[in-house]
Amino acid sequence: MKDFYNEELKDIYKELDTSVYGLSSVEAKKRMQKYGKNELNRQEQDSLLKILFGELFSPMEIILLIAIIFSIIIGEYVDAVTLIIIVAVDVFIGTFEEWKAKKDVSSLINMIKVKSNVVRDGKEVEIDSSELVIGDIIFLTSGDKISADARIIECHNFQVDESSLTGESIGILKNNDTIKKDTILSERFNMIYAGTNVITGRCMAVVTGTSINTEIGKIADQVSNTKEEKSPLTIRIDKFVKQISILIVSIAFLLTIILVLKNYDIGKIIINVIALSVSAMPEGLALALTMALTIASKKMYKKNVIVKNLNSVESLGSCTVIATDKTGTLTVNEQTARKILLKNGEEYDVTGTGYNDNGEVTSNNNDKIDLAKEIAFLGYINNEAHLKKEKNKWNYFGDTIDIALLSLAKKLKIDNKPKIIETIPYESENQYSAVFYEKDGKLYCTVKGALEKVMYYSEVSDEYKKHNDYLTSNGYRVIAFANGVVSDTNIENVKDLDYVGMIGFIDPIRTDVKKSIKLCHKAGIKVIMITGDHPLTAGAIAKDLELITDDKEVATGVDVQNHRKQSDAEFDRFISCVKVFSRVTPLDKLEIVNSLKRQGEFVAVTGDGVNDAPAIKSANIGISMGSGTDVAKESASMIINNDNFTSIVDGVREGRTAYNNIRKIVLFLLSCGFAEVSFFIFSILFGFDIPLVAIQLLWLNIVTDGLQDIALSFEKTENDVMYTPPRSSKESLFSKDLVTEILIIGITISIVVFGTWIYLVNNNYDLAFSRSVIMMLMVFIQNINVLNCISEKNSIFKIKLLKHPFVLFTIIGSILLQLLFPSMPFTAKALKVVPLSFETCLLTFMISLIVILVFEIYKYSLNNKW
Ligand code: ADP
Ligand code: MG
Repeated sequence: MKDFYNEELKDIYKELDTSVYGLSSVEAKKRMQKYGKNELNRQEQDSLLKILFGELFSPMEIILLIAIIFSIIIGEYVDAVTLIIIVAVDVFIGTFEEWKAKKDVSSLINMIKVKSNVVRDGKEVEIDSSELVIGDIIFLTSGDKISADARIIECHNFQVDESSLTGESIGILKNNDTIKKDTILSERFNMIYAGTNVITGRCMAVVTGTSINTEIGKIADQVSNTKEEKSPLTIRIDKFVKQISILIVSIAFLLTIILVLKNYDIGKIIINVIALSVSAMPEGLALALTMALTIASKKMYKKNVIVKNLNSVESLGSCTVIATDKTGTLTVNEQTARKILLKNGEEYDVTGTGYNDNGEVTSNNNDKIDLAKEIAFLGYINNEAHLKKEKNKWNYFGDTIDIALLSLAKKLKIDNKPKIIETIPYESENQYSAVFYEKDGKLYCTVKGALEKVMYYSEVSDEYKKHNDYLTSNGYRVIAFANGVVSDTNIENVKDLDYVGMIGFIDPIRTDVKKSIKLCHKAGIKVIMITGDHPLTAGAIAKDLELITDDKEVATGVDVQNHRKQSDAEFDRFISCVKVFSRVTPLDKLEIVNSLKRQGEFVAVTGDGVNDAPAIKSANIGISMGSGTDVAKESASMIINNDNFTSIVDGVREGRTAYNNIRKIVLFLLSCGFAEVSFFIFSILFGFDIPLVAIQLLWLNIVTDGLQDIALSFEKTENDVMYTPPRSSKESLFSKDLVTEILIIGITISIVVFGTWIYLVNNNYDLAFSRSVIMMLMVFIQNINVLNCISEKNSIFKIKLLKHPFVLFTIIGSILLQLLFPSMPFTAKALKVVPLSFETCLLTFMISLIVILVFEIYKYSLNNKW
C-alpha cells in the first residue's frame, strides 16, 4: 500500500487519475469492474446441498437411519423401504423450509445499506458505499460511517472516531497537511480510514483504497462482521427441544425394558420405540419458530421497519415504553417559515407551503417589508442547504430548517451572497450555526439558532424572551438571529452582536400519528417524547397529539439534571411522571432511558444523530430513523425507513403477532406429542398390545405435524393483539397458562384415544383393524386440534376459517392423504392397515371433535370468569 499521507495532493490526483471534480460514471464503472465492489467478506448463503446434508444428519434422521438398518437386519424389507421414503420426505420438507428461512434472513441483512456522497460526472450524488472506487471524491459530515480509505482534501472542525482501528476512543482532529514518512496510523491526521466514524465537522476527501486494500481490509479476518444471529428465543427453544428429546429417550428406554420383560422380539422393540420417539419429538419447533419470526420481519419490512436480526422482532412485541423524538418522527419534518418577529416587535406572516418560491411576506404595515429582508438575508447566508429549480422541478437537500430559510429568501428575491470567510455548521448538539463574512470591507459574524444559544453571542432582553414564548407556545419552532461586526474569526471572542429577530417555523404533524398514539395507550404502551426543541413548542405539539393534557407533564433537560442529583428512586419517580422532555442533551436522554429500564420498563428509543447512539445502544430496542446517521443506524437494532412513528406501532403489532404464533406452534406440537407418548405408556402399562407399529407412527408424524406447525407460523394478527397489555419481557415461553393449555389438550386426546383403544381390544376386534382405526382417529384428532390452536382465547366458532388458508390447506390435505393411502392396496400394505368403511371413518371423525369441545369450554371459562 502506498503512503498517501506522505504525498502532495496534486501527485495523488495524477497517480489515481482523478481530480477535485471526481470521476465520470463510466470511469467509475470501469474501475469497479477492475477492482471489484467495495465490500469485505460478504456473507455467503449456505448452499442447498449443505442444508440438505445438515438435515439428513440431524439427530432425528440419524435415529431413523439406524431404524432402517435394523429393519434390514431383521428382514423387514417393506418396512425398510417405507422408512427410506419417509426419511426422504422428511428431509425434503425440512431442507426446503430451512433454505427458505435462511434466504429470508440473509436478505434481511442485505437491506441495510450504507450510502456515501460522491462527485460523479461533476455532480454530488448519493451512492451505495459498496460502489465506491479509488479516485472518487467523497463528502463526509457528522455521523457518517467512513467506507473507504481516503486522503483529506479539505476539512472543517473534522473529528473522527478511529477506535475500531486503533482502540483509541478519543476523537481525532483531522487536517489536510502532508506529513512525513513512517508516521504511525493513529497520527496520520490527513487520512481517514474505512470502518471509522465521523464525530463532528465536514470533510472532502479522495478515495485511496477500497475493500481489501484498506487498512481494515488488511485485518479483515479479525473483524467481526454481521453473523447470522440466533434470537434468544430460538436458542431457548433449541435447548428445550434437546431437553424434551432427552426426556423422550429416557421414556423410550423404560419402554424398551418393559417390552423386553414382556417377551417381545428385541429387533421390533427397537424399531417401534425409535418410531415413537421420533413421532413425539417436537423437532419442527425451532424451524417453525424461525419461520414465524422471519415472516414477521418481512411484514415489518413492508411496513418500513427493517430489523437487523430476528431477535428484535420478538423484543419489539414486548415493549412497554416508546421514547420517540419529535422532528420527523411525529412531524413530517417539512419546515415552513410562517412568522417573522423582529426586534422592534414588528410581526410578519409568510404564506405558501413546501420548498419553493410560492408565497409572500405580508404585514399590516406594507411599507416595512424591506425590514424583513435583513433577517431573511442572514438566514440565506448562514445556510448549508441547497434549493434550486431545475426543469420545472424544485430540487433540494440539506437541513430542513435551512431549506425553509432558502425558500423564504426566494420569496423575497434575495440572491446576493457576500464573501464567506469561515463557517461553524449546525450540529444538533450545538443548537446554533454561525458564519463569518465580509461586507463593505468589514468582517461580520452572524449566528442563528435557539434563543438560549444566541444569548451567548448577543444581549437578549426579557422582551425578546417574551417574543420567543409567544411563538413557541403557539407551536412554532423558533430560530433567533444575531449579527454584527467582529474583530476576528474566533467564535469564542464573539460577544456583542446585535439581536435581529426571530423566525417561527411550522412543521405539520404526521397524519395517523394521533391514531397510533391512541392505539399505543390501548395496548398498554406509554409514549414519551424526547426532543431538542423548546419546551413550549414541544408541549404545544404534544397537546395537539393528545400525548399530554397538562403542562405539568413537560420537563426540560435542566429539570432532568437537577433531579439527577437526588437518589435513584426519587429520580425515577420524577421521570415516570413526565411525558415530554425538551431541550435535552444526549446525556439527559441516556439518563432517561436508564431510569425507565430501572423501573422495569422495556424501552424502545428512537434517534438519528451521532449523539443519540449511546441512548439507542442502551435501550432494550434501539430504533434509528432511515434518514438518520450511519452511526445511529449501526447502534440500532432496527431502522424505520420512512421515519414515521406509525411504523413503530405497526412493528409492535407484528412483533406481538409473531410471539402469539410461536405460542400457538408450541401449544400444537407439545399437546400432540404429550398425547402420543402418554397414550403409548398407558397402553403398555395396562398390558395392551402396542397400539401402533413403527411405520404407522412415522406416517402419523408426517400427516399430523409435517406442515401444520409451519402453517401456524403464517397466522395473521388477531384482532385484539393491540388491546391487551404487553407481556412481561421476563415471562418464559412456557408460562403457566400455556402449560395448562398443553395439558388440557394433551390429556383429552390421550384419554379419547386410549378409551377407543380399550373399547376395540375389549370387543375383540381384529388387531390390524383396531390399529387402522386408532391411526385414523389420531390423524383426525391432531388435525382438528390445529383449529384449537388458531386462537388461545377466541372461540373457533367466531373465527372465519376461510381467512386461514394455509392452516385449512394443510389440515384438509393431511386428512385426504390419510383417507387415500389406507384404501389403496399397495400403500395399505406398507402402512400395515386395512381400509375402513365410510361409517367407521365418520364415527372416528365425530369422536375426534371432543378435543374441540373440551378446549372451547376452557376458552369460554377464560372469557366468562366462572
Ligand atoms: P428535535 O429533537 O425536535 O429533532 P433538534 O435537535 O433537531 O430538535 O433541534 C434542536 C434545536 O436546534 C431547535 O429547537 C433549534 O433551536 C435549533 N436548530 C435546529 N435546526 C437548526 C439549524 N439548521 N440552524 C440553527 N439552529 C437550528
Ligand atoms: Mg432532530
